[in-house]
Amino acid sequence: MPQKKTNIILIGMPGSGKSTIGVVLAKSLAMEFTDTDILIQMDQQKTLQEIIDGQGHMALRRIEENVLLKINCRNHIVATGGSAPYSHPAMNHLGRDGIIIFLHADLPALKSRIHNYETRGLAKRPDQSFQDLFDERSILYKKYADITVKTSSHTQDQVCDDIILQLDQSPFIPLTSRLQREFNTIKAMVKLYCNEHHETEDIICNECSELVEYSRDRLLCCPFQEKKSTCGKCVVHCYKKDMQKKVIDIMRYAGPKMALKHPLMAMQHFIDSRKKPPGLSAHAGNSRTKLNSK
Ligand code: SF4
Repeated sequence: MPQKKTNIILIGMPGSGKSTIGVVLAKSLAMEFTDTDILIQMDQQKTLQEIIDGQGHMALRRIEENVLLKINCRNHIVATGGSAPYSHPAMNHLGRDGIIIFLHADLPALKSRIHNYETRGLAKRPDQSFQDLFDERSILYKKYADITVKTSSHTQDQVCDDIILQLDQSPFIPLTSRLQREFNTIKAMVKLYCNEHHETEDIICNECSELVEYSRDRLLCCPFQEKKSTCGKCVVHCYKKDMQKKVIDIMRYAGPKMALKHPLMAMQHFIDSRKKPPGLSAHAGNSRTKLNSK
């Protein structure tokens, strides 16, 4: 059985739409979004062009590789810089938990979108034409792509629909919107708990991240899927004992704080909790039913 991958990695030429499509896709799939060009700029406290001007285009590629190798996230859309596929280690790293999608725009479309080729912060040789760059990088994008989606003559919505259609046939397993909502709520509660109890400021520690990922796996196997009430009202309780205890402790601590910190999420969770939990008969015969605690 193929390994489930939880991230979507967008690659492609500058102007192919990685950042804009990434945001739209993140909204459609209720995932988080990361733009690695922004990570590089935050890491270096310089724009991409300033890095090239001061240290050269190869330095930018090395910095990019380091930033990509540090990415450790799940359930994210990651828009990479156009030069990401020059690094084999970085692409291998991203591909371990990510489906790699090549946003393919043809040369005339790209030329019509890029008007600042020389100052855009592209990691290219100083003498390299746009055509040369396109030819060189197209080979690399095709090499690493799990999925290729054409973007030249498509609207953003059409590109997103195409991606979602192709993801259905890939080892990527997105949560449905109801399950995603539950997952986001659990994650927010774990973060509140972790920041307070494990002295983490704006991140979740490794141990708590394990619980977050465990809860995601449980949701993926949830026999009730879209019909589920909140896990707290479930008649099955598919969590194994130690994880169940951890999650109860966290809910007790973070639950009362949610209304203040995440009022919309708290209200939606309250509405979800009012749903009558389905009984065992509701999922009898469902091939995805897994009642054993794992
Ligand atoms: S089976 Fe119950 S506890 Fe497990 S994910 Fe579904 S609703 Fe939550």
